[in-house]
Amino acid sequence: MHKFNCIYKVLGLIFAPKITKMTNRTFTMIKPDATQKGNTGAILEMINNGGFRIVAMKMLHLSSEKAGEFYAVHKERPFYGELVEFMSRGPITAAILEKENAVEDFRKLIGATNPANAEDGTIRKRFAASIGENAIHGSDSDENAAIEGDFFFSKLEQF
Ligand code: ADP
Repeated sequence: MHKFNCIYKVLGLIFAPKITKMTNRTFTMIKPDATQKGNTGAILEMINNGGFRIVAMKMLHLSSEKAGEFYAVHKERPFYGELVEFMSRGPITAAILEKENAVEDFRKLIGATNPANAEDGTIRKRFAASIGENAIHGSDSDENAAIEGDFFFSKLEQF
């Protein structure tokens, strides 16, 4: 019994920090429509008030190649061309956010893809104009959060 407890303790020390780190982070972009309308500050305030800690952040203008690469998963969808054009239209703010249950809680805070279906109090309800120009991105899984964060930030830029 004692031996097994020791083994579990050691395994816990090895794996727990990694598991905790994965589930505690998500990735976001404030999209060009929100930037152009001057909504970046108000959106960051909602993110802050939602209990998320910013652990990486930068403002940049995506090339159409980079926007296409980021959204490559949607390549076969009819809206892909429109999406790439939109995302490379102007500056965005990219950020990595930390909070317990970050991915799920952030999806709740941003609301449904189509703002017509977004709940009151969500970022998309308040700032999105349409299903395409919907103000903000939020990762849909822990795995994608890590991939997307690494797409924009080196390890030295993630705090
Ligand atoms: P989400 O961003 O909510 O995870 P998706 O992964 O389905 O949504 O889509 C990625 C992005 O593609 C959306 O946020 C939106 O900007 C755009 N998009 C999705 N569906 C459409 C559509 N039917 N027409 C135009 N743009 C769309």
